[in-house]
Amino acid sequence: MGQGLSCAANHVHGLFTAVQFGDAETVETLLQRNPSLIHQTTVYDRQSALHIAAANGQIEIVSMLLGRSVKPDLLNRHKQTPLMLAAMHGRFSCVQTLIEAGANILMFDSVNGRTCLHYAAYYGHSDCLQVILSAARSSHVAASWGYSRFVNIRDGKGATPLHLAARQRRPECVHLLLDSGALVCASTGGYGFPGSTPLHLAARGGSIDCIRELLAWGADRLQIDASGRIPYMVALKHKRGACAALLNPSSAEPLVWPSPLKFISELNAEAKALLEQALMEANREREKDILKGTAYSLPSPSYSDTGTDDNISEASDTELCGICFDQVCTIEVQDCGHQMCASCTIALCCHNKPNPTTASLNAPICPFCRSSIAQLVVANVKTGHDIDHDIASSKLRRSRKSRNLSEGSSSFKGLSAMGSFGKMGGRGPGQIVAENEWVDKS
Ligand SMILES: [Zn+2]
Ligand SMILES: [Zn+2]
Repeated sequence: MGQGLSCAANHVHGLFTAVQFGDAETVETLLQRNPSLIHQTTVYDRQSALHIAAANGQIEIVSMLLGRSVKPDLLNRHKQTPLMLAAMHGRFSCVQTLIEAGANILMFDSVNGRTCLHYAAYYGHSDCLQVILSAARSSHVAASWGYSRFVNIRDGKGATPLHLAARQRRPECVHLLLDSGALVCASTGGYGFPGSTPLHLAARGGSIDCIRELLAWGADRLQIDASGRIPYMVALKHKRGACAALLNPSSAEPLVWPSPLKFISELNAEAKALLEQALMEANREREKDILKGTAYSLPSPSYSDTGTDDNISEASDTELCGICFDQVCTIEVQDCGHQMCASCTIALCCHNKPNPTTASLNAPICPFCRSSIAQLVVANVKTGHDIDHDIASSKLRRSRKSRNLSEGSSSFKGLSAMGSFGKMGGRGPGQIVAENEWVDKS
């Protein structure tokens, strides 16, 4: 009897080894000889062959097993599905194949009550995250649970995927989640109790990139956690000096992406990317000013010697933005057709401090003709010679660099120019703070 058992155990072991290393031929042979092997699991963790194949990214075996009617949502000892393991290990094609085979994206494991979305975010696999999110958009989950509820799904400790991505320093996932409707100020406490926000956890994790993303989406630097601490104090406690400098409520407010505005949410991808780049660049400039002279100052890129004059002579007057006279027009306002650069558009549309009660009321208007903005699109450069967007954006970058060289202060030229239009809303006094203010207070 012992002989028989160990023989069967050898077959199981052989199967799992072949699955792990993607030896499809051996798997096929073993299953032909003994079809019941397909239902075997590992002794302790109760992993099925599908779990092992998914975790190891053996897509051929995953497809073979699914083709043999293995159910996609088998559970291991921790109630984890093969999809969760694939998401954990960033096995993109396995995630895709399992979802196509009908794997349920709305399953919770028994370790931390996490879903596959939590695991993709935690381990920073933005490609897997993307596939799961698009599955959620089209599947029954959207109908039964609601898509935004799924994006903000909580684990056993109240953490959303955004909390986990922020804590684990995964800026790409943070960006993707925010872009998909993750609540930037969600608290792990829930039900009105104070808990940590994604910004608290990013402060703890110490990722400036995550903090920049969260602030640009309107994360509140003054929200307190269960211990009454603002993110700034969390960063100090964990010795995240540069993060603390940005999170210090007395340092300059970052520009905030105006996501609630209808015309922004309906932007085409190209215009959105241009504006997003301008927003992030503007905020990076602010960071540099905040960190200048501190121990955390970012290494300054080497600037070329080309002065501002060179750039202006390169671009004819018709290409230059009529607000800052500095950058190339890349964005066109519809329906009026007026053009400006992405930085000025951002300055026009962004509220320094999100104000939920007024944000949607102050819909931006065209600074040239004061008609309301129906849509923003990428501008067609109206000169004789064709300038494609690559050239336009490289000019944009270059002129920004030369501007840094000539100004080198905390003033954001596009923004201060826009201030004179008086219709921007939200740009209060004291938001651009001299660098020594932070130094004095630290
Ligand atoms: Zn401009
Ligand atoms: Zn106009």
